[in-house]
Amino acid sequence: MNKPGQVFIISGPSGSGKDTLIKALMEKRPEIKLSVSSVTRAPRPGELNGSHYNFITKDEFLRMLDNGEFLEYNTYLGNYYGTPRAQVEAWLQSGADVILEIDVNGAGHVKKKLPDAVSIFVMPPSMRELGERLAGRRTEDEETAQKRLLEALREMECAGSYDYIIINDRLQNAVRQLECVVEAQGCRAENMTETVKGVLKDAQSVNWQTSQNV
Ligand code: ADP
Ligand code: 5GP
Repeated sequence: MNKPGQVFIISGPSGSGKDTLIKALMEKRPEIKLSVSSVTRAPRPGELNGSHYNFITKDEFLRMLDNGEFLEYNTYLGNYYGTPRAQVEAWLQSGADVILEIDVNGAGHVKKKLPDAVSIFVMPPSMRELGERLAGRRTEDEETAQKRLLEALREMECAGSYDYIIINDRLQNAVRQLECVVEAQGCRAENMTETVKGVLKDAQSVNWQTSQNV
């Protein structure tokens, strides 16, 4: 049986650069899976159904919730967001690592259900920079952007409860740090047992006396 995959939770305020960092990580590690959440908000310009999110109605969301189809869910600025359970569980069972890009409440729920999940918080270098990035993205009107900035303060207060914090100042540095976290997790002793067993098994098959005389 495969070793189950690893869950990486990535949170951070809207505009902090989560999507940008995840995209860069997945270009380098295409084997990692990204969970596609279901959401009741309208798509932003450029967002594709089934790719960025599954855009569904509130009724559909509530039906799925009733059926226990979400691993976790939360409301954010009046909309429902949820992680579909079946796909994530299938990936993990197949041994694939999975990224969940979810908010701080969702992260708390997942950590309770899956304590081995590694949580990463993406911080902007400053509030001013966050405001500029949100405005620069041009996906929200002024009022929505303001609401997201207010939410950002609440979210950043939770950063200390995460396993890792990445400051997304210079993009290249932040991408490198994210890769390091993923890489380091793969090297944890509990994730290396099969590799170590393989080396030891191979060592037992060698006739050491003969090989030392060679
Ligand atoms: P999130 O997914 O957290 O809402 P995005 O990845 O959409 O954030 O990033 C918000 C905006 O900031 C985008 O326009 C993106 O191109 C830009 N951005 C992301 N990281 C950086 C960075 N390190 N420096 C400058 N701009 C960035
Ligand atoms: P956005 O509208 O900017 O795409 O997302 C708003 C917030 O919802 C972000 O913090 C994002 O990480 C979070 N989010 C996206 N999908 C999910 C989800 O499935 N569950 C939870 N709990 N949060 C989510």
